[in-house]
Amino acid sequence: MKGCTPINRQIIYAKRPVGEPTLACFELVKAPVAEAGENQVLVRNDFVSVDPYVRIRMEEKDSYAPVMKIGDIMVGRTIAEVIRSRHPQFQAGDWVVGRLGWQDYSIAAAADLQKIDPGRAPLTTYLGCLGSTGITAWIGLYEVGRAKQGETVLVSAASGAVGSVVGQLARRRGCRAVGIAGGATKCKVVIDEFGFDACVDYKAASFAADLRAAVGSGVDVYFDNVGGAILDTVLPLLKHGARIPLCGMVSQYNATESYGVHNLREIFNHRVTMRGFVISDHRDLWPAAAKELEQAYAAGELKSRETIAEGLENAPQAFIDMLKGGNIGKQIVRVRARA
Ligand code: NDP
Repeated sequence: MKGCTPINRQIIYAKRPVGEPTLACFELVKAPVAEAGENQVLVRNDFVSVDPYVRIRMEEKDSYAPVMKIGDIMVGRTIAEVIRSRHPQFQAGDWVVGRLGWQDYSIAAAADLQKIDPGRAPLTTYLGCLGSTGITAWIGLYEVGRAKQGETVLVSAASGAVGSVVGQLARRRGCRAVGIAGGATKCKVVIDEFGFDACVDYKAASFAADLRAAVGSGVDVYFDNVGGAILDTVLPLLKHGARIPLCGMVSQYNATESYGVHNLREIFNHRVTMRGFVISDHRDLWPAAAKELEQAYAAGELKSRETIAEGLENAPQAFIDMLKGGNIGKQIVRVRARA
């Protein structure tokens, strides 16, 4: 960083979307790189995560996360290299993960950074199965869903970041894992690569019948990532005492009209427990989750897959595409090209 003033490219939130976001909702701006203050760290981001929850934060609606303001830097976790540190715990060259935003450089308080070891796994896995994505799957499946050996676990958005980990953890615990995904290609990946027992294409005309056949005697745990019409189709297939960890409702994030679920009576009939959860409410469980995920990964029992878009300037398009199913596994953007 000596000899010239580096420029920080940032993607800022430019316009509230109605329905699907468009490129006009984002703007790339340039600013000089700031200096780290006392106890702060200057990092350079290599990879940025783009996530469905960001779409929730773009709405001016009440939600579990603060609403983004126009002009804010787009939010997201990143994998970054420490460039300069004014905190004794970090040194130049360390690798960290943090909520550092869609930009080339970030200044962070040391307390907001977590060191990662690039020798143990590829950097990108710390945004995927070894990061908050994997932790979401673990908390939803075990803590909220209380999945037990021998049970049938059904998960929607099964080829995506969280869903693909849910099925693998379920299999590891001795459950039968059934996925729901959009299209035959994705269903094949879910079975062949992530090891699910079955996967059903929700875009096929025969979806409801296919799903009924795939779950056999019924579903003990439905890990719901999508809500909407798919949830409605699943409800009549739940067993008595089934659990629904409600992780997200991605089918509704771009919707201009909310979907009214018809089959809610099944929850009553079968004494089903449906519980929304957000991983930041369960920080006490993160170390146990991270430990099991790392063990599973090291043992070759947890496969990581990422869809990587190239260049910070392409982060908005990657985000738009991911919300429509353009990704398999974790959607990430590489912001720093290395020789
Ligand atoms: P994914 O990698 O699963 O990407 C989103 C996927 O959603 C797409 O690939 C697409 O797959 C699917 N999708 C999009 N539209 C629809 C639709 N109309 N119907 C069905 N599926 C659709 O994202 P993540 O794994 O990062 O997130 C999955 C869910 O988990 C989201 O709801 C997210 O908000 C939630 N989440 C919740 C957390 C928590 O703390 N509760 C933490 C992290 C994530 P396809 O091609 O199959 O349609």
